[in-house]
This record gives sequence, structure tokens and C-alpha cells, in this order.
Amino acid sequence: MVTALTLDEAGLALTFDTPADVTIRHLDTPVRIVLDLPESGFAIEADSVVRPSTVQSLRFGRISEGRSRIVIGFSAPVWVVSQEGGSTSSARTTHRLSFSPVARDEFQSLVESDAAQIDTEAAFQSPSRSDAPNMFTLVIDPGHGGIDGGAEGQLGTIEKDLTLAFAKKLEAALAADPAIRVVLTRENDVFVSLRDRVQFARTHRADLLLSVHADSIDVPGLRGATIYTLSDSASDAVSSRLAAQENLADVVAGLPAEPVAPAVSDILIDLLKRETGSFSGAIARELILQMERDGIRLINNPLRSAGFRVLTAPDVPSLLLEMGYLSNIEDEKLMREEPWRLRMAGVLAEAIRAYAKDHRLNAGAP
Ligand code: ZN
Repeated sequence: MVTALTLDEAGLALTFDTPADVTIRHLDTPVRIVLDLPESGFAIEADSVVRPSTVQSLRFGRISEGRSRIVIGFSAPVWVVSQEGGSTSSARTTHRLSFSPVARDEFQSLVESDAAQIDTEAAFQSPSRSDAPNMFTLVIDPGHGGIDGGAEGQLGTIEKDLTLAFAKKLEAALAADPAIRVVLTRENDVFVSLRDRVQFARTHRADLLLSVHADSIDVPGLRGATIYTLSDSASDAVSSRLAAQENLADVVAGLPAEPVAPAVSDILIDLLKRETGSFSGAIARELILQMERDGIRLINNPLRSAGFRVLTAPDVPSLLLEMGYLSNIEDEKLMREEPWRLRMAGVLAEAIRAYAKDHRLNAGAP
């Protein structure tokens, strides 16, 4: 666990509650210093870290299996002059890095030598994700979790288990793609509020939030996959009931119901939402096309919309995928099958890859 992070013009101090190795490298376009860490939780929030004016961005989080990463973006080239690795007192470890401005060409050679070193490492390790500026960030949101189990099938399948298992399959299907970074809103059986799921995607500057579900609906004959986008008025009555049921997740878990935000008329937010909405629609069509092409069973009119709270990030294209419905025993049987999950994950991965290639939405933004 990273318990503290302080930044100023001269450097950075990073404290862990356990001994931890930190690997550093320099990256260009934009200028960044990247710290690779063992997989760590963060007891701090990026927004609450005070940044000197030279620091343009700060992101951290899990980057891949067993690894976390801190990425600091700078307005001008700097290099890490010294690294005091781990002054350890009891179980705590503090790493101190000192930064210093550097000329552009010297910075460039640092970037190159770091890259060469990483290549050598990569030859011995599993493929490491590069943090190229044009990285597409996918946030997979396994629906429900912890106290909120979601739907339950006739064979006893619990929705929260299905969604997590599938999210990990999809993550694995994209793991080898260096241009796509995948993060999950939950890695295990914990409760995450709808608001935190939305916030998670925004904090990670996601290019897409895909919330994965396998709900029950009150039409038992209905089966197949569905993609939902956000809309104020639902596309149909079934979708409307489904969204109402989904939006109760926080209440089910004992959280106070969120007050309805007063309608704020802001033309910039409206424009942003409209743009985000059109990206969401484009990705949804891509996913449906790919599922159709690969023979994944879909419901009639598989692109639907309703007021799902988890899809409300104004700046992150967001989709909710119902893989199938636990109210239908045939769907339940299918979703329990490993080969089906692998196939579905492969199909979605392909569609996401195709979309990401063309639309690196938040790419390289400071
Ligand atoms: Zn659900």
C-alpha cells in the first residue's frame, strides 16, 4: 500500500507500508517519469496531491497483473538525478527521487537508454505494457459485488460472480495488446458504489467504461446479449425497469440514496455529454456488429438505452453489457460455460481493439 506521496519541484517522496522496489524510467511526448511498483493499493487520491506548476499530470493505479504504476507528466524535460531507495523504518519504506531540468537532447538519450533496458527486461518477462501516449484505456466494470450479489439464476448462479469472472477473461484477452490498458473497477468480491464506478473511470481517464452484467428481467423467455447506452428516456419498458432495478444497487448495499442532482444548464457540459454519447453509440454498434458476425446470440433490438446511473460520466463513453439474462435458464447454462466465456471475451476484445485503433480519445491529454 502506498500511504503517502508528496511532490514538489525538486522531487518526490513515496512511502509504502511494506518494503517495495521502484523502477524508474523517462518517457517522451509528453515528458513523463514512470515509476513501476509491485501491485499496490493507494491510500491517497491523485486529485488531493499538491502539484508544483512544472507537473502537468499525475496518474496511478494497477497496470497489469502484479504491477502498479505512477505516471508523472511534466511541462518540460526533467530527469531523475538521484533515487534514494527505501529508507526503511520498521515496515515502512520511503523512496525519494530528485528531479532536475535537463536539455531536450539529453532527455532524449535518457528516454532511449531506458527503453533499451526495458526491451532487455521484456525479453525475459511476460510482455510489459508500454505507456505509449496513444494508449487506449478500457475500464471494465464487473457489475455488483460484495453485499450486492445482483441477480440469481435458477441453477444458483450469482450475477456478481459471473461478471467478475468474465471481466477477467476480457482483461486477459486484451493483455497482449500494448496499445490498450485495461483496469477493473473491482478485482474481487467487494462492493463498489455506482458513483465510485463512474468516478473510477473518470480518474483513469478511460476511453471506454464497459459495465458487465447478467441481470434478471421479468420476461423469462427473453435471452441473449444486449448493449445499453445512457438515455434520459428509456428505449422501451423492459430497459426502463432494468435500469430502475440496477440503480437500486447502492440502496441494496445500505448506502443512502443519492439525492437527485438539480438540473444544471451548462452548454459546455451538454456539448461534452453529446460528444461522449455519440462515441458510446459508435462503440456499441461496433460491439454488436462483431457479436452478430461471430454468432453470439443477441436479443431483438440488441442496442437499447435507459437511465443507468453507472453510465453517467459526462466525459467517458460508457456502455452496459448484459451478456445474457439469469432469468433465462438457457442463458444461465451458457454463461456458466468456460468455452462460451472465452469466445465472448474474444469477440468483444476484437471489437474493442478495432475501435481503439481508430479512436484514441483521451490520448496523450495532460
Ligand atoms: Zn446487474
